[in-house]
Amino acid sequence: MKKTFSFFLLFSLLYLASANTVASPIDFTNPYTEPTDTVPYIFNEEELPSCNDTLALSPAFDLYEDWDTENIHFRKCNIDSLREISKKITLCDNNSCGYVHPFQGKVTCPFGAHRRYYHCGVDIDLETGDKVMAAFDGKVRIAKKSSSYGNIVVIRHSNGLETYYAHLSKIKVEVGQEVFAGDIVGLGGNTGNSRGSHLHFEVRYLGQAINPADIISFTDDKLISDTLQINKQTFNYLAKGKKAANSTANAGKLLAGNVYVIKSGDSLSAIARKYGTSIDLLCKKNKLSKTTILQLGQKIKI
Ligand SMILES: [Zn+2]
Repeated sequence: MKKTFSFFLLFSLLYLASANTVASPIDFTNPYTEPTDTVPYIFNEEELPSCNDTLALSPAFDLYEDWDTENIHFRKCNIDSLREISKKITLCDNNSCGYVHPFQGKVTCPFGAHRRYYHCGVDIDLETGDKVMAAFDGKVRIAKKSSSYGNIVVIRHSNGLETYYAHLSKIKVEVGQEVFAGDIVGLGGNTGNSRGSHLHFEVRYLGQAINPADIISFTDDKLISDTLQINKQTFNYLAKGKKAANSTANAGKLLAGNVYVIKSGDSLSAIARKYGTSIDLLCKKNKLSKTTILQLGQKIKI
């Protein structure tokens, strides 16, 4: 009798416990309790139009209107129209903040005009095999071997910027691959036109190089600002480069009006000898002193 009573008590307790958990009422005072009639409509895939291409999934497709995985540079780049642009680009926001420095090393060659060429990127010193990382989230557009860049990876970012990672010894990503800032894109190396292992890093907008130091501080390897204002000034370096190229193209020549363009290695005495004049006369005509250091491309009257 005692045993039967114990079983009855146990079953009663179990029933009460299960009833309590199953039948808990909806808490209408909780604002997060969703009434059943607001469950979102689930699309039937057959009702949606079908598209064969996935181009629109490429980052900044509206800006580029292409996704070229063969040609490293954007062929439609028009510098005059670029100079008309006035646009603020977001580098870092709530959806994607992540700048990761591609490689923490010493800058061995900055962006800008050099003796024989224009350097469109920044060189960062590294050892062959060092890991090179994606600077921002994006999608790999180029991952191939080029004669000049060596093994190169180009990543297009949703804000329209592209970043280039060149001279790699090994490529670790594939074309079309989505990458996050900090993902390894390759290993540093010395491939292509390169003397000594380093990373050649470029930042481009619509194919035109931007000085990476405009957005990145290479002293503390961080972004300077969360945004980048693209305008005339961004590409001013091109006009300056053109001017310098024009003046050096005439170096060593005597132009109309007896204007001589200084070439590398020139001295006032050598010029005076060549054109049958004197240092004193050259100095007087050009308001120079005998110790003035002549600049490449400088014009003087003979
Ligand atoms: Zn370089």
